[in-house]
Amino acid sequence: MARPVTEAVTLLDVAWPEPIGANAYLVDDGEVTLVDAGVPLPRRSLSDEIRAAGYATGEIDRVLLTHYDIDHVGGLARVDLDAPIYLGALDRRLVRRSWSPPWSHHKGAFHRLVRRVYSLSGVDLRGVSDGDRIGGFLAYHTPGHNPGHTVYLHPESGAAMLGDLVWNTSGAFVSPPWIDSYDTGRIADSIDRIAEERFEAACMGHGEPVPAGGRDALRALAAELAGRS
Ligand SMILES: [Zn+2]
Repeated sequence: MARPVTEAVTLLDVAWPEPIGANAYLVDDGEVTLVDAGVPLPRRSLSDEIRAAGYATGEIDRVLLTHYDIDHVGGLARVDLDAPIYLGALDRRLVRRSWSPPWSHHKGAFHRLVRRVYSLSGVDLRGVSDGDRIGGFLAYHTPGHNPGHTVYLHPESGAAMLGDLVWNTSGAFVSPPWIDSYDTGRIADSIDRIAEERFEAACMGHGEPVPAGGRDALRALAAELAGRS
């Protein structure tokens, strides 16, 4: 059931137990933003969870997608939203087929198949670039897991919407594995960059969000990854 992470951020309980399914969040700063949308067939439906959080789907002002993976965007298929949907520019080009990863890349090949089935067609899909300001959010292009992976910081509430920059596995932050990523070296660079920013709440796609001390935990992971390379 939907539950608060911080005063502004609510976790929507749409994920199946790991490793299947990803979290979605609602951020209310006077405008209501949905961050990611979960799997196409969630444990609890996205619209039920939005309602459980105290909102009607019509109240959602925008959707921010951290990246184009089915466990983060699939839930959009079953909810009726009249709001613009934002996605990192390169992932948007991937979905809209104006850019294609090589077939020889393990995740790229998978995406080329998935986008035939799930193309986010019929929605107002807008590309996001590094540094964009969208409502109360700042966009950071954080490639590696996906080419257009984007982290959204919400300075007013001190929350970082991290997507799959990191996963929280039983209290420990880990970076996503090679098999599910484009370039793990670039993930480490992206982690480094976000670890230099200021935030408290770490809201990731997989695992329990951390309401306070999130940046310190990310810095610890950045140091660990630097030590390994
Ligand atoms: Zn994911």
